Amino acid sequence: MIYDLALTGGIVCDGCSSVAATVLVKDGKIWSIADPAYSFDAKRNIDCNDCYVLPGFIDPHVHLKLRLGNHESVDDFITGSELALSGGVTTIADFVDPAHDCMELEEFFRKRLLLAEKSKVDFSFHATLAGNPASTAEDFSNKALSLGCPTIKVFTTYSDSARKTEDGFLLDLLDCTRKLGTVVLVHAENDEIVRYRASQSKEAKHNDLNNLRPVISEREAVSRVVLLAAETDGQAYVVHVSAGSSIVAATSTAGDSKINIVLETCPQYLMLTDASLNSEKGALFACVPPLRGEKERALLLEMLKAEKVSTVGTDHCPFLSGAKLASSFLKDLPLGIGTLGLTASIIWSLLREEGISLFVRVMSSNAARRLGLYPDKGSLLPGTDADLVVFDPEGQMNNLLSGYTGCDYTPYEGLSLAGRVKHTVLRGRVAYEGNEILLPEGYGRFIGRDPLDWSVVS
Ligand SMILES: [Zn+2]
Repeated sequence: MIYDLALTGGIVCDGCSSVAATVLVKDGKIWSIADPAYSFDAKRNIDCNDCYVLPGFIDPHVHLKLRLGNHESVDDFITGSELALSGGVTTIADFVDPAHDCMELEEFFRKRLLLAEKSKVDFSFHATLAGNPASTAEDFSNKALSLGCPTIKVFTTYSDSARKTEDGFLLDLLDCTRKLGTVVLVHAENDEIVRYRASQSKEAKHNDLNNLRPVISEREAVSRVVLLAAETDGQAYVVHVSAGSSIVAATSTAGDSKINIVLETCPQYLMLTDASLNSEKGALFACVPPLRGEKERALLLEMLKAEKVSTVGTDHCPFLSGAKLASSFLKDLPLGIGTLGLTASIIWSLLREEGISLFVRVMSSNAARRLGLYPDKGSLLPGTDADLVVFDPEGQMNNLLSGYTGCDYTPYEGLSLAGRVKHTVLRGRVAYEGNEILLPEGYGRFIGRDPLDWSVVS
C-alpha cells in the first residue's frame, strides 16, 4: 500500500499520552499511528523532527463577518479560515445571528451557511436566541437540532438591544437539554448591574468598560447559571469567562456535585490586562467582557492549569483601528478584538510547563468532546479525519500581525510568543506550511452535529 502522507520523526500526542511515532494518512483519514521503525511507502513525507504531531486545533467561538450596528467585523470566512489554518486550527464554530423564533433561526442559519461557502477550514455553527421567543423552549431546541446545531447561545444581558433571555426561559431551555441532547451556551453577565451602571455614566469611554461591566456582574451571573443547571440537571456551557474569580465562584457553587457545566475562556483574558485598555490607544483593546486586572488574569490562568476551565475560544471579532479610534465615546465603539491564528502560541507560552497533554486537551480534544465533534475532530484515532498540526515547541512568534487577517493591527503587538505551527493538515491535505495556505476556497465543510450527551463524555 502507498500512503498519501506520512508524518515522521515527531512526538505524537492526543491529549492523554505522547509517544514517538509515525502518523500515516490515507484517503483523508488517519490510517495508523505506527512505530517509528516501521517502513512504508508514502507519496509525501513530512519530517517532524523536534516537533509535536497533534490533532487539529478547534476554536469553539469565532464571529466572522459579524454585523454590529454600523460596523462589520473585518475577517470573513476566507481571511478568517486562512488565519485559523495558519494557527493550526482545523475546525471553527461560528454563531448563527440571534433569532427571535424558529422561522428566523432557520432563515439566519441559511444566510450564514451561504456566507461560509468559501471557508477553507471546517466549520460548525451554534444557534443563537434573541430574547424570549414566542415558541416554546422545546420547539426552539428541536429546530436548532434539526439544523445540526445542538448548542444554543443565550444572553443574560443586553436587554437594551432586546437580546436578553429571561431566567425563566433559560430554565426551560436547560430543562430540555437532557431530554433532547442540546447544550445551552450562556453569555453570563448580570443585566441589572450593567444597565444601572450604564444609566449612571452617559458619556462613557472605553476605559470605563471595567466599571460598566464589573467582574461581579460576571461572577454573579456565572454562579446563577451553575445553580440553574444544577436545578434542571441541564447541560450548560458558559462562554468567554473573563475573570479568574468567576471560575472560582462557579466551581465552589457546583461543589462536589456532578453538574454538567463547562467553562470557556479566551486567550485575551489570559494574556492581556486592563493596563492595555487604560492606555492611550486603549480603544484598540475594547471587547466584552472587558480585559480585567492582573490579579484576575493570574487567577484565570491558575484555573486553566487546574482544568477548571475546559476550553479556549478566541471570540474573534476584529475591527479596523480607524473604526476603533474614530470616536472617544463607548457608544460608537465596535467591541471585539482579533486573536485567531495566535491561540496556540499564546496558550503554549502560558502552559508549556504543564506539559503537552494539557495543551492538547485545551486546544483540541476538550472542545471536540463537549461540542460533539469527537472523534472525527480532536482525536488521532485510526479511521477519523486526518486533521493534524505539526507544532514546534521551541519556535518563536515575534511579528504577530498576520498577513492573513483583514485587520490592520493586533492587540498582541510587541509580545514574543513561544511555539509555532509549522504544518497544518486538514482531512489529509496539507493546508498550511512555510507561511503559505495551500487550500482552495470552499474546501471547508459544514459539520452538522448530533444531539449531545455529556454523561458519556469524560
Ligand atoms: Zn462571542
